[in-house]
Amino acid sequence: EHSVHIEQASESELKAQLEALYARYDQLAERKLALDLTRGKPGSAQVSLSDALDGILDGDYRAADGTDVRNYGGLDGLPEARALFGALLGTTLEETLVGGNSSLTLMYQVIDFAMNEGLRGEDTAWALNDRVKFLCPVPGYDRHFSICEYMRIEMIPVRMLDSGPDMDEVERLVQADPSIKGIWCVPRFSNPCGTVYSDDTVERIAKLPQIAGDHFIVMWDNAYAVHTLYPDAPELASISELCRKHDTMDGVFQFGSTSKITFAGAGVAFIGSSERNLSTLKAHLAFQTIGPDKVNQLRHVRFLKDAEGIAAHMERHAALIRPRFEAVLDTLERELAGSGMGEWTAPRGGYFISFDTRPGLAREVVDLAGNIGVKLTPAGATFPYGKDEADRNIRLAPTFPSEADVQASADAFVLCVKLASVKQRLAEIAA
Ligand code: PMP
Repeated sequence: EHSVHIEQASESELKAQLEALYARYDQLAERKLALDLTRGKPGSAQVSLSDALDGILDGDYRAADGTDVRNYGGLDGLPEARALFGALLGTTLEETLVGGNSSLTLMYQVIDFAMNEGLRGEDTAWALNDRVKFLCPVPGYDRHFSICEYMRIEMIPVRMLDSGPDMDEVERLVQADPSIKGIWCVPRFSNPCGTVYSDDTVERIAKLPQIAGDHFIVMWDNAYAVHTLYPDAPELASISELCRKHDTMDGVFQFGSTSKITFAGAGVAFIGSSERNLSTLKAHLAFQTIGPDKVNQLRHVRFLKDAEGIAAHMERHAALIRPRFEAVLDTLERELAGSGMGEWTAPRGGYFISFDTRPGLAREVVDLAGNIGVKLTPAGATFPYGKDEADRNIRLAPTFPSEADVQASADAFVLCVKLASVKQRLAEIAA
């Protein structure tokens, strides 16, 4: 019934459709749904995959070098944890620091440090400039944008392409405007599009600090580095290797965490950058802490063991998440393909599906869904300042609800998309 493109349908067909859609919408409203597709949280079965963390040390608190992890010290983190997560980032032990439970904290600390203390001495603090700007590939991760807004960093949106950020635009901007101090990147299974940056894009980003200058940093948030849903998921080129090739390790900060590997609220976060950057950063961190939670770091090393251990563990996550993604994607495909009512991504990993409505409808779709008990990420959240000029993008996060709830949410979502689209199309025809 929906293979007809919305722009091919006649006014009377659309009016009949609208009536039927409202009838179903009212039925759904009566069911008093309480569904939530908003945040990228692992489901409880997912976090349970790591329950063995609890008690795994079994009284053996000694690190490989004999360190008693219960005690103070080790600002860099535990050497075996640095080795484990450095392997994930492609950084050496010296280029890897393992911190507390949140990579977002580490990102905040790096920006705070660059802003107020200066990465290359106090006269390089960004705050000494009248204006500080950051490039923000859009749609993107709202918490990156919140950090910028909080720090009064002006955000310049840059379009995401299938290959990653529009690099022609990025290179043009950083050359033209020295007040641009950095760029946010989620290079594998980006939030929310699920894009994996192409090899060429990764190399051009690795070269950016050369083009932009010493003041510029790449915030490489590899939050979904190992979060594949299918064995054929595209690999990401190693930015570490490319930074070595182009001598730009000083200009790139890599981040990651086990938030979506083990426990979202009690994992381990890490940072990879040049030795020089890490020692500068540590001098700053030393004012904030004597050292991170090494007990949790050791628990993670004993539990995950090595890259193969992580990969095997991620397959168990994929088995839980895949049906939820497929429920949403199959529903979108079945109900909306060829209808002209929306476009969406079909990621091979990560935590999100990005949906674009017809221009001007994202807010309305989110409201329509909210009014029948289906919570969606607020329209605009994937853009700096919450401003999606085209009012099109909606981020769908299917991991947390039960499979049945994901299906019910997808059904309700599609209904709201159709309702908003048909209403809009009728108004277009009337005008
Ligand atoms: N980066 C991205 C791109 C994310 O999607 C998330 C979680 N939603 C985070 C960082 C947060 O990571 P952490 O839990 O390590 O602070």
